[in-house]
Amino acid sequence: MRTSDRRVRRRLARAIRKRARGAVVLLYHRVGDGDTDAQLLSVAPERFAEHLELIVGEEEILSLADLALAVRSGGDLPGRGVAVTFDDGYADNLIAAKPLLERRGVPATVFVTAGLLGGRFWWDELERLLLRPGRLPRLVSLEIGDEELRVDLGEDADYGAGRAARVTRWTVLDRNDPGPRQRLYRLLADRLRPLEHDERERVIDRLRAVTAPDEPNGAAARRPLTLAELQRLAAHGLIDVGAHTVTHPVLAALPQARQREEIEGSKARLEEAFGRPVRAFSYPYGTIASFDDSTVRLVRGAGFTHACANVQDRVGGGTDLYRIPRLLVRDWSGDELARRLSQLRA
Ligand SMILES: [Zn+2]
Repeated sequence: MRTSDRRVRRRLARAIRKRARGAVVLLYHRVGDGDTDAQLLSVAPERFAEHLELIVGEEEILSLADLALAVRSGGDLPGRGVAVTFDDGYADNLIAAKPLLERRGVPATVFVTAGLLGGRFWWDELERLLLRPGRLPRLVSLEIGDEELRVDLGEDADYGAGRAARVTRWTVLDRNDPGPRQRLYRLLADRLRPLEHDERERVIDRLRAVTAPDEPNGAAARRPLTLAELQRLAAHGLIDVGAHTVTHPVLAALPQARQREEIEGSKARLEEAFGRPVRAFSYPYGTIASFDDSTVRLVRGAGFTHACANVQDRVGGGTDLYRIPRLLVRDWSGDELARRLSQLRA
């Protein structure tokens, strides 16, 4: 073999080893269809099936717990490892995702908002009240803290199915808001996110009191699991349950004592429901700004062995097990997911 060949081979081997550090944790929220999805949380069932086909065919699938164990023990990470996780604890994780996961034998970790089992998520309620057909007063006025939020809905106060249908694809990532309802949704979402659960609910209650939705139970599939459903989801071992706080707050916005209640409380509630230790945690929203060093200390102190963020990167030997990065998966085709995975490993 010529020297140059050897050099090429060595470089190739190095490149392959480098890629071997590239395990990726996928972050899903919902598997379902819906006519609005302002927060881009939903992946259509056919597309989720495509994703599973891709990863079963081309990746080494492992549970999040096994991936965390491999990082902790300093052992070899699989060359093309993938772990599947879901945040929030939506009912469609049982109804739509579980059968597909079972068919392919893919394990997943579902991070559950322990205090909202059988309840609803504020962002879904906001979407139901504002972005689906129905009537609102022309001038919507809401007090949030010291601020009064006033938006003139104009003709969109009476929001017919036809008008709503023209903007179902609108999401918070769009630069332009097609009408005052989208503007109000965006303003409210930004102001409600950092609030405590009870304050948030008070604002939504006031909004609900002046709303007349055309379909009072619209978007009913978009709801958290009940406890009984969560128990069915976690039966037979393919799905592991992790904690995602009690009320889904921005932890960094809370004083220590409240953070502790949210973190320890979610662990205690889930352990009581399942009679076994809950070791994995996921920070609500998960961005760098949504939790801080004190949050990480509390999560560690509560007895969690690993915790997931919503920061895009691959997992390697040096990954901080209390800041595990994930790839936030959108409603992509299988090809698009493959592209994103290789991008992340490049
Ligand atoms: Zn969440």
